[in-house]
Amino acid sequence: MTFAATVLTLYPEMFPGPLGLSLAGDALARGLWGLETRNIREHGIGRHRAVDDTPAGGGPGMVLRCDVLAKALDAALAPDDPRPRLLMSPRGRPLTQARARTLAAGPGAVILCGRFEGVDERVIEARALEEVSIGDYVLSGGEIAALVLLDAVVRLLPGVMGQAASGSEESFEGDLLEYPHYTRPREWEGRAIPDVLLGGNHAAIARWRRAEAERLTAARRPDLLARFRRPDA
Ligand code: SAH
Repeated sequence: MTFAATVLTLYPEMFPGPLGLSLAGDALARGLWGLETRNIREHGIGRHRAVDDTPAGGGPGMVLRCDVLAKALDAALAPDDPRPRLLMSPRGRPLTQARARTLAAGPGAVILCGRFEGVDERVIEARALEEVSIGDYVLSGGEIAALVLLDAVVRLLPGVMGQAASGSEESFEGDLLEYPHYTRPREWEGRAIPDVLLGGNHAAIARWRRAEAERLTAARRPDLLARFRRPDA
C-alpha cells in the first residue's frame, strides 16, 4: 500500500510543483507515493461555478461555501476511505514531526486547501475535518501549507530517503535540534572543522554531537529541551 494523497484546491496547477523535483519528485515518479489533485471549482454553483460567498454577519472577504466543499470532498472519498481528512488552517493544531510520522505510517491523506477568508464552519463539523496549521502566520491559501505537510511526510516514506539513518538523527526527532554539520574544505576563511570530528573516535564524536545538540536546543528552543528532559510530560 502506497501513501495516497488527494488534494482539493482551487489551484490544481500548483501541484506537484516543488514536490515534482528532487527527493519527493523521484519518489513520485517511482510510485512510492501517489498524488491526485481535484479542482473544487468543478463543484461550483451555476454558470459561473461559484465556490464562495460573502460572510454571514458581514466583514471583509469571501468564505468558501460548505455545500460546494462537501460535494468536492464526497466526490473525492471512496466508500469507507480510511484516510484522515485534513483542512489546512492557521487555527489548526501545529504540524509536528510526530504528526508527519503518524501520517507517513498511514494510508495517505485527503487535504482540503482553503482560500480567501477561509471555509464555512459547518463543513468542518459535518465532514469531521482535522485542522492542521504549519505555523503561527497567515498564508493566502492552503496550497503551500499542503505542499509543506506532504514534503515532511513523503521524505519519511519507506525507500524515499537514501540512508534510512538520515531520518532518525535530525532536528525534532527526540525533541533536540540537530548538531552542526561540516564538510570539506578542512579550513575555510580561517575557520577550521572541530578537531573531534577529524579524530576518528566515534564515541567522542557521538558525545560531541549530543552536547552540541543540547547546547543549541537550550539556546534556541528551551521549550523543546523541557520536553526532552521530561519525556512523559
Ligand atoms: N481568515 C483566516 C485566514 C484565511 S487564510 C484566519 O484568520 O484564520 C486562507 C487559507 O489559507 C486558509 O483557509 C488556510 O487553508 C490557508 N492557511 C493560511 N495560513 C495557514 C497556516 N498557517 N497553516 C495552514 N494553512 C493556512
